[in-house]
Amino acid sequence: ETIGAMLRRVTAEGPGRIAQITRHQAVRWSYADLLGRAEDLAVGLRRLGLKPGDRIGVWAANCSEWVLAQFGTALAGLILVNINPAYRAHEFEYAVKKSGCRALILSPGHKSNDYFACLRSVAPEIDRAAPGRLKAAKLPKLEIVIRLGTEPTAGMFNFEDVAAPADEAERAGLAAFGATLQFDDPINIQFTSGTTGAPKGATLTHHNILNNGFFIGEAMRLTPADRLCIPVPYYHCFGMVLGNLACVTHGATMVSPSEGFDPVATLEAVEAEGCTGLHGVPTMFIAMLDHPEFDRFDLRTLRTGIMAGSPCPVEVMRRVIEMMHMREVTIAYGMTETSPVSFQSACDDPIGRRVSTVGRVQPHLEVKIVDHEGRIVPPGVAGELLTRGYSVMRGYWDDPAGTAAAIDPARFMHTGDLATIDAEGYCNIVGRLKDMVIRGGENIYPREIEEFLYTHPAIADVQAFGLPDPKYGEELCVWIRRRDGAALTEEEVVAFCKASIAHYKVPRYVRFVDEFPMTVTGKAQKFLMRKAMMDALA
Ligand code: ATP
Ligand code: MG
Repeated sequence: ETIGAMLRRVTAEGPGRIAQITRHQAVRWSYADLLGRAEDLAVGLRRLGLKPGDRIGVWAANCSEWVLAQFGTALAGLILVNINPAYRAHEFEYAVKKSGCRALILSPGHKSNDYFACLRSVAPEIDRAAPGRLKAAKLPKLEIVIRLGTEPTAGMFNFEDVAAPADEAERAGLAAFGATLQFDDPINIQFTSGTTGAPKGATLTHHNILNNGFFIGEAMRLTPADRLCIPVPYYHCFGMVLGNLACVTHGATMVSPSEGFDPVATLEAVEAEGCTGLHGVPTMFIAMLDHPEFDRFDLRTLRTGIMAGSPCPVEVMRRVIEMMHMREVTIAYGMTETSPVSFQSACDDPIGRRVSTVGRVQPHLEVKIVDHEGRIVPPGVAGELLTRGYSVMRGYWDDPAGTAAAIDPARFMHTGDLATIDAEGYCNIVGRLKDMVIRGGENIYPREIEEFLYTHPAIADVQAFGLPDPKYGEELCVWIRRRDGAALTEEEVVAFCKASIAHYKVPRYVRFVDEFPMTVTGKAQKFLMRKAMMDALA
């Protein structure tokens, strides 16, 4: 089944059910509205000459048009390229050029980031081009630029014109065309978060992400009665697959509280719309739980949701279950390259399991954990996690060497993550292979040190990583964010560690910082911290 076929089937089962609520735009669409508008957009994009396999970038923060773009491009067989709302001109140029976008849908900007100015700086030709006829030296494949809204802008079509209502003959033509699309056609290029270096573009098919969204919704027990609050970004698989596709495959309602994450808007949306589910990365849940207005909100409708993207501190999980009523909250583990989820806890897994593991493998996927020579390790022993099955990407776009390094000849995806799996199949993510610190031959898992330091009352947040060292190969470094007003010295941190952990795991370097370098998905970028330390020590 293609994504378009799925949307048509689910809509036929309940055309009047609410599909999309976008609170910051006062949008409320039924499934019939969503399908109709997505069809209008698909017809309009095809009218502009876009053909199956053409890449079309979307550069906007969360908004209802993003959702239309997600489903409209799928109906038209185009390859949607997700562009990170936080990108600046240089990164935008990289993404559009790397994926060879022929078209672009963009908003005027997000926060202080002016997208039109970024586009003009990369493609100044836009100011003199007729809409649809852009020829830019730096972006040779880009021809069509569509702006959100209706303001006339040089060189650009207006989204509302492109997505104007189609007539019956055009709809029928689109449906006939849709039947020719194949479930294993590429549909989406998603860039990885860039936590360990430059983002990589994963090429995904209908089959990859549609099935992943379906199984995620199954694990959450979604039904048409559910309303899922989605404050995570759409451009990332967390919003687009774990959020939107999990909902639509189950006829549930997608609720968008705000453009970018805002703790109060999110809590308000849950209360006002009676949401039954809420997604977030751990730092978002922390921001809501710690917010001075938290107690003002009635969150008793909440039941489930997914906490994913980075390791979740046990304490945060307990507060989410107890204070936010999310007794069926699940943890998921995955990566962009695997559509993304491969492990997810079940709603009814015991709380102990849910706080300490990422659950069991998803249906229809195979996994193994291997040592550095590729041999499967016994249960409970850490090694690299490999996954195989429907969810593994086609490859990195336009990067055969990168693809060959990530997917082996037996079609196993090498995740680059270290994990253990116990005898009952529950998986524990220990950290990233790249982040593992080997000091004098001893393996140190940064996660273990972080969890330990997190128990110190003066420490709000901590990141541990390795630095090259001539004597030991690597030395451990920690960056610490102190709680407001708390006093804590390097000596105290070292003494605290010495009292409870093995000597070789005691950090050699301790630094106090106000913030960590972060991706917009809320992940700490250790490679930047490592670089800053090496520059400082050099
Ligand atoms: P890049 O590949 O560009 O360095 P990235 O790996 O962070 O960035 P994503 O694909 O967004 O990009 O994230 C996948 C990674 O996130 C996983 O490989 C894993 O390291 C981490 N991760 C995801 N879920 C969890 C989880 N539940 N617990 C621990 N780590 C997780
Ligand atoms: Mg990665």
